[in-house]
Amino acid sequence: MSLLVTGSLGLDTIETPAGKRDNVIGGSAIYFAYAASFFTPVRLVGAVGEDAPDDFFTVFEGRDVDTSGLEKRKGSKTFRWHGSYVKDLNEAVTVEVDLNVLAERAPKIPDTFCDSRYCFLANTHPVLQQQMLACLKGPKLVVADTMNLWIQTERAELVKLLGKIHGLVLNDGEARLLTEKKNLISAAKDVLKLGPKFVVIKKGEHGAMLVTHSGEAFVLPAYPTEKVVDPTGAGDSFAGGMMGYLSTQGGSFSAATIKRALAFGTVVASYTIGDFSLGGLQNLNRDQIDDRWNAFKQAMSF
Ligand code: AMP
Repeated sequence: MSLLVTGSLGLDTIETPAGKRDNVIGGSAIYFAYAASFFTPVRLVGAVGEDAPDDFFTVFEGRDVDTSGLEKRKGSKTFRWHGSYVKDLNEAVTVEVDLNVLAERAPKIPDTFCDSRYCFLANTHPVLQQQMLACLKGPKLVVADTMNLWIQTERAELVKLLGKIHGLVLNDGEARLLTEKKNLISAAKDVLKLGPKFVVIKKGEHGAMLVTHSGEAFVLPAYPTEKVVDPTGAGDSFAGGMMGYLSTQGGSFSAATIKRALAFGTVVASYTIGDFSLGGLQNLNRDQIDDRWNAFKQAMSF
């Protein structure tokens, strides 16, 4: 069962206590697709500008990622983001953002992708997320991500999107901003009132929390790791591991299944943060993920 992802593809300039990298490959859909491809075939849809380096077209070579929905748009510029984690590894400060191609029309979903049963609307403009969703015929599971920029500038469109999806993944600050509730359980319940059946609130080094419409709440710590080089993409890799696993579960989305999926997301993210850009994922294999997942499970039992 293929998993469709659409979101940002961009060039990131990243500053962390470990150093600085200029114009490295990034974007929410890039991290998600790479992470999810350890579990299932992935279909990637997105647009870059004519200034985009070839890396966007070669980075998935050898992986089960169908890039036929990747558009190099003439006359447009690639999305760019400059983020800093120098003050706080748990929270990116946006130094500069140039939406460029992200502020234009949605990229076209190839007709052959419209039967995708699983879909992740990675962080991008909520209008683009809705346009993408409208192209799909009967998806089984649609999960979206968002961020403070869209909550502040496109709230009405974001609320419309929430009425059309099954799950939302966002971080604690974003959940508070969206709902104006300080308590995260209250914030999660308010998100659920807007439409999703479950919400996953990411809390950086403090892990993640799942709240479902049937009233279940589940918390999971982050995988304990000392090597934190660059947190960029942790959230998207988390979502990639989570959705990648879910899309192999034959359409069963019980709370128990979602919990296991959260643990896979946590494990994949723990590798992403070990290096800049995609470096933490590029030398990884599924066996290493499974070994760490089992060790994590063991560490959680008491
Ligand atoms: P995260 O997984 O939350 O760390 O997301 C990291 C990625 O989000 C980076 O590679 C950025 O290119 C991308 N990003 C930053 N700002 C935006 C935005 N406004 N819209 C879409 N993607 C963004």
